[in-house]
Amino acid sequence: MEERRVYLDNSATTVVDTEVIKEMQPYFSDVYGNASSFYYFGREAKIALENARAKIAALLNASPEEIFFTGCGTESDNIAIFGILNAYKRKGHIITSKIEHHAVLYSCRHLEKIGYEVTYLNVGKGGVISVKDFKKAVKDNTLLVTIMHANNEVGSIQPIEEIAVELKKINEKRKDKIYFHTDAVQTAGKLHLDVKKLMVDLLAMSAHKFNGPKGVGVLYVKKGTNILPITFGGHHEKGLRPGTENIPYIVGFAKAFEISNAKIEEHNKHILALKEKLRKGILDTIPEVIINGSDGRAISNILNVSFNYIEGEALLLMLDIKGIAVSTGSACASGSSGPSHVLSAMGVDSVAAQGAIRFSFGCHNTQKDVDYVLEVLPKVVDSLRSMSPVWKQKIFENR
Ligand SMILES: *Cc1c(COP(=O)(O)O)cnc(C)c1O
Repeated sequence: MEERRVYLDNSATTVVDTEVIKEMQPYFSDVYGNASSFYYFGREAKIALENARAKIAALLNASPEEIFFTGCGTESDNIAIFGILNAYKRKGHIITSKIEHHAVLYSCRHLEKIGYEVTYLNVGKGGVISVKDFKKAVKDNTLLVTIMHANNEVGSIQPIEEIAVELKKINEKRKDKIYFHTDAVQTAGKLHLDVKKLMVDLLAMSAHKFNGPKGVGVLYVKKGTNILPITFGGHHEKGLRPGTENIPYIVGFAKAFEISNAKIEEHNKHILALKEKLRKGILDTIPEVIINGSDGRAISNILNVSFNYIEGEALLLMLDIKGIAVSTGSACASGSSGPSHVLSAMGVDSVAAQGAIRFSFGCHNTQKDVDYVLEVLPKVVDSLRSMSPVWKQKIFENR
């Protein structure tokens, strides 16, 4: 029997597009110079670096001087947060949300340890913060606001533009500007990002979430932003991110970003159809399931489902045996104990939070993938529930 493998964890990472690999290849073997060297090899690498920067800038409606290459999305978030605070040279208050990726959440927890004050905004049932709550949270000593664009566990899109509008009004009446950072790792390549419309000062992205290589990120920093580096070395990336630029990966970032942006509508249509098919199939065949997150304001590729009376980890392992890759919460959270901080913040009860699974689609998934999941999943859920005393009791009572 042929072994089937279905990858439904595209929010954790994606396959690198073959066109992207082709674009990167020469920069490993032919154009391998250091972009800081003045001879021919270096100049060629420098041209590739600046072409990539210009391409990305154009797609974001930014200028090339506002694009900084980093080692990953996590690093972009860290440079944004600690870089702004380094430039302030004094302690103060930060506003974030309870549902941030660990790259931001753990940065904020660290800031609390070193004397900063942090407000973690609540979310509603749909996983979205309220602009009213945000306005109430602003203090005289607020220095920075960091709110993700879309959440990586449930896909909920946060009201970034609305917050930016409020922040602009607040900033007009202050001497010190409150800076606004957004972690856009889950929306880059999935929504058309326009930094002028979003009105943010800093925006983080990572190539491996949109069919680019792992280990390369971008930080957009608006012109005039007062930011200092958090690591020190050479003059690369205007000293904000010292270290020899990874030209093949940077070229790969630009190519993957270009392709995914050109195909946003096509991919979203394809992915949304698959997600709807899976959602409907699950609701039709499996009792006691809850769909987590809002439909209205969400990216199209994430379906987060709670299977009551089951441990999400157990379901993940059983699906893995059948060749299906999914995740519980985020990949970064697996291995850590306790229910997802995102589902807890959304008020999902602990039974449902324990049984949550994230299916995340990519452009390479097919109808056949969903058919296979719908063939396997009900049986697996059934067999796991048959081992649950709580479930057996429930069946017994309902007889
Ligand atoms: C994946 C992810 C990150 C981390 O990006 P890396 O490139 O893996 O460091 C940060 N934020 C969000 C929302 C993510 O989904």
